[in-house]
Amino acid sequence: MEVDIVLLEVKDLVVEVEGKRVLNGVNLSIKEGETHVLLGPNGAGKSTLFLTILGFPKYDVVSGSILFNGEDITDLNTTERVQKGIGVSFQNPPAVRGVSVRNLLKFECGLEPEDELPLEMQELCKKLKFSDEFLDRDVNRGFSGGEVKRSEILQLLAQKPLFTMFDEPDSGVDIENVELLAEELNVLLDKQKKPGQRRRAGLLITHLGYILNFVNADKAHVLMNGVIACSGAPDEVLEDIRKEGFKGCVDCAQCGSGCSES
Ligand code: ADP
Ligand code: MG
Repeated sequence: MEVDIVLLEVKDLVVEVEGKRVLNGVNLSIKEGETHVLLGPNGAGKSTLFLTILGFPKYDVVSGSILFNGEDITDLNTTERVQKGIGVSFQNPPAVRGVSVRNLLKFECGLEPEDELPLEMQELCKKLKFSDEFLDRDVNRGFSGGEVKRSEILQLLAQKPLFTMFDEPDSGVDIENVELLAEELNVLLDKQKKPGQRRRAGLLITHLGYILNFVNADKAHVLMNGVIACSGAPDEVLEDIRKEGFKGCVDCAQCGSGCSES
């Protein structure tokens, strides 16, 4: 019998940022091959969960744990987590003076600065509309919203993580760019394979759910006041939010009407 492997497991996670309690006991379980989506109003703690899973030092785990591929990673640093196969696309990544997109890509491919970019990467650069001149620019310096997101996705494609988190891939980006991003996002989530054959998994954070027009998710969760208030089929959860706003999720969690399994 085939056993589902849980790739990411967040257990009763309580997190403080700068002395402020932001997450109040988050539980989340993502299996191999699954794509989950995290919805929630502004300030709900979505990015805090993202950065805590990544291991940012400012995000203080008061209690609870994070397991990746069966291993407790709660006390590992960010580099160690990335080496284990966690990849991220930030909502607002920092600019890096003195490091070109090309050299960062080479680093992510395990190459030296004097090496050529592999053919596969050169083709991806073209597909994502990055010219040769563009690749020589400093990472994220003066990039437009679309360029930032395309550059993030390009780095992930070089990295090939087992589990990828995307913080608001659809914010501040026009429709053409969202479509282009979604195509590659689907590659990173193994969507070209049949459901039973997918290994790579991911968590998409989205405020309005726009990206779900282009990427299929297996499950949706709503984060409210630092806890998962509701989980369910993405279409149904989104429809409820569109009808009743996020307030409906609080009512739903309180009455325990059956949509709170995670
Ligand atoms: P979301 O991504 O859902 O919009 P965030 O996780 O960014 O929410 O923020 C949740 C809460 O945590 C907000 O009240 C925010 O002000 C606070 N917060 C997040 N990061 C920090 C930080 N570095 N310093 C202080 N407060 C923070
Ligand atoms: Mg956020």
